[in-house]
Amino acid sequence: MYKTREVKVGPYILGSGHPVRVQSMCNTDTRNVQATAAQINLLEDAGCEINRVAVPDMQAAQAIGEIKKRIHSPLVADIHFDYKLALEAIKQGVDKVRINPGNIGAVENTKEVVKAAKDAGVAIRIGVNAGSVKYLKSVQGKMDLSDEKWAEVMVNEALEQANILEQLNFKDVVVSLKSDNFKRTVLANELFAKQSDIPLHIGLTEAGSFLSGTVKSAVALGTLLQKGIGATIRVSLTEDPRMQVRTAYEILKALGLREYGPNLISCPTCGRTQVDVTGTVHALEERIYSDKALLQKATGLKIAVMGCVVNGPGEARDADFGIAGGKGEGLYFEHGQTMFKLPQEKWVDFLIQKIKDWKK
Ligand code: SF4
Repeated sequence: MYKTREVKVGPYILGSGHPVRVQSMCNTDTRNVQATAAQINLLEDAGCEINRVAVPDMQAAQAIGEIKKRIHSPLVADIHFDYKLALEAIKQGVDKVRINPGNIGAVENTKEVVKAAKDAGVAIRIGVNAGSVKYLKSVQGKMDLSDEKWAEVMVNEALEQANILEQLNFKDVVVSLKSDNFKRTVLANELFAKQSDIPLHIGLTEAGSFLSGTVKSAVALGTLLQKGIGATIRVSLTEDPRMQVRTAYEILKALGLREYGPNLISCPTCGRTQVDVTGTVHALEERIYSDKALLQKATGLKIAVMGCVVNGPGEARDADFGIAGGKGEGLYFEHGQTMFKLPQEKWVDFLIQKIKDWKK
């Protein structure tokens, strides 16, 4: 476990063994307050704890105050090049600013942003993406870099940026080092964690479509989180942002780091299956993940839907609520006890009711 400093973002403390927080980013036009707040509300319902919005101009920065009034989670303003946008976002009540001190001109600009951030208790994230690293731009096409060298270059740039804030005695800093490449992302974050106590926000850039992006993110983030690296995560997918949130929780759940939603166990089905396991699981997920209250109720519950009585009863018995299929019906188990047979058409409603009635 890498020891990091603690950085406060809204109600959350990041780093130093605190729960790994799930982030996402809106894909709405930030100037459209209603659309942006509505998307953040949906993301909050999906469990997103910190949300980020792009702030490309002053109108977007000025929209932050109104957006903040309509949401319940900390908000991050993503800013490039123009320090005045950061000043306005802070004035509007943003909780964190993603900006790179080296990209906003004279050191006086950084000093102004740091003073405003300090006064308002706002954290700053330095975000280094492989594609936009200064050094790489200057050498592009002139040499092939190994993944190790990419990592080193990214880390050096992050440390250089962090050092600017350090010189100004500003400590509430988070760093991210992202690439679309698994190895570079992992190497860069590992290298940074060895050299700095600044907490890391981890993720891949442009991870891709739902399936490939999920797999790449799970491998990269899983590798880092398993080593105790990562205070917040974002899964970037070309997909509904709510799926990014759900995927992030699934990664954290698989690693035993967070609980959110049920642990749904189901078999892949085979030639023995005589019930609709796939349809049942999809219907269950649809019902649970579209109802925040149900999702919270189901958190921590193990629910098993298994296809037959050969391998099914073992898993079903081990669950809080489990069904082992037969022919058009299934044997229902509750906390290890064999209960009764249940026709397949009643499975989904029955399990949903069980979740609703469940008292922790
Ligand atoms: S639990 Fe039964 S139906 Fe499901 S995959 Fe295993 S053997 Fe096949």
